[in-house]
Amino acid sequence: MARAGMLTTPHGSVPTPVFLPVGSQGTVKTLTPDELKSSGVGMILANTYHLYLRPGVETISRLGGLHKFMAWDGPILTDSGGFQVFSLGHLRRISDEGALFRSHLDGSEHFLTPELAIEAQEKLGADIIMVLDECPPYGDDYRSIQRAMERSHLWAERCQQKHKRKGQALFGIIHGGTFTELRRQSAGFLASLNFPGYAIGGLSLGEPKELMHSMLDETVPLLSENKPRYLMGVGSPEDLVECVARGVDMFDSALPTRLGRNGAVFTKRRRYNIGNARFKNKKGPIDADCDCYTCRTFSAAYLHHLFKAQELLAYRLATIHNVRFIIRLMEQMRRSIMDGTFSCFKEDFIKNYRPTDAETRAEQKKKWLGARQEKHPENDVV
Ligand SMILES: [Zn+2]
Repeated sequence: MARAGMLTTPHGSVPTPVFLPVGSQGTVKTLTPDELKSSGVGMILANTYHLYLRPGVETISRLGGLHKFMAWDGPILTDSGGFQVFSLGHLRRISDEGALFRSHLDGSEHFLTPELAIEAQEKLGADIIMVLDECPPYGDDYRSIQRAMERSHLWAERCQQKHKRKGQALFGIIHGGTFTELRRQSAGFLASLNFPGYAIGGLSLGEPKELMHSMLDETVPLLSENKPRYLMGVGSPEDLVECVARGVDMFDSALPTRLGRNGAVFTKRRRYNIGNARFKNKKGPIDADCDCYTCRTFSAAYLHHLFKAQELLAYRLATIHNVRFIIRLMEQMRRSIMDGTFSCFKEDFIKNYRPTDAETRAEQKKKWLGARQEKHPENDVV
C-alpha cells in the first residue's frame, strides 16, 4: 500500500509521503523559516484555533495572509480549530449548529460553526484547509460515535457550500471511530462530496496502536487512489513507518518539536533523554548518522550541558535535530518506495528501532498536560 507521490499547491510541490511540523501560533516553535527549509521541511501546519484567538484572522488577513505574516513561502495547511475546541477542554456546549467554547487566553466565549471555520481559514489563506468535524474521545460507545459522525457529515457539507476561495483545497475528514461499519459509511458519504483530499480522523486519540493500524487497513482501501490521504496527529518514527506502509501520504504532529523542547531526542535505535548521565561525556553527536546542523556542529555532551543549564539554545538545537530526523525518515521511506525496497526498509527499521513503551509515553503525556493545566488553569472551569 505504500506510495510515493507529488502534492502540488499554489506555494510549490512537496514530495509525499510528507511530514508537516506543527506551527501552532504561526511559528514552528524555536525555528526560523530558513532553518525549517535547511531541515528539508516542505510544508507546515498552523492552528486556526490559536490564530483566530490571537492575533485574530482579520489582523493576519490585513497583513497579507499567513504566508506573508510568518514569512514562510512554502505550502501551509490549517486545521479547522475543532480539535482544540473538542479535545483540550475548551468546549462549553455543542449542537448541530456549532460548538460554544471558552478562550484559554481570556475566558471569552466564541461560537465555532462550520461557516466560521471556513471563513477563518479563508482569511488565513493556507493552501489546504480542513472541514470542521466533531472529535469524540476514544472509548465512546457506538451510538455516540455514530452521532458525532453524522454531525461531522452535516458540517462537511456546510463547509463545502461556504468555501469560495480559489487556490485553496478543502479536505474532508472520515470518521467512525474504531467501528468498521461506521468507517465504511463515512468514507462512502464523503466520497460523494468529492473533496480533493481526505483525512482519516478520529485516530491517534489514545487507542492501542494495533487498533489504529487495523482501522487504517479497513479505511484506506475505501479512499480514492488519486487523492491525498492524510492522517492527523501522528508523528512518532514507528507510527510513521507503519502508516506509510498502509498507504497514508501526509502526517502532522507536534510530537518531534515538543519532545525536543523537553530534551527527548530521536536516534535510529530509540528515543533518548539528553539529560541522561550517559551523555555527560559523549564527544560525538547525538546520532552519528544524522546530517542536521546540531549533529554536524555539536557534541551530545554540549547539548546535555545546555539542557542542564536550561540555556535557550538547548531547545533550538534539539528541535532542529528532531525535525531533521523525522524529515530524513520520510525521505528514506520515499526513496525506498521509488526503488521498490520499502518492505526491506520497514523490516530493518522495525528490527532496529525500539519504540518508547506505552508507560513512558503515558507518563510524558501526563507531564505535558499537567504543565498545560498549570499554564492555563481556566481550563478547569470547563
Ligand atoms: Zn541531528
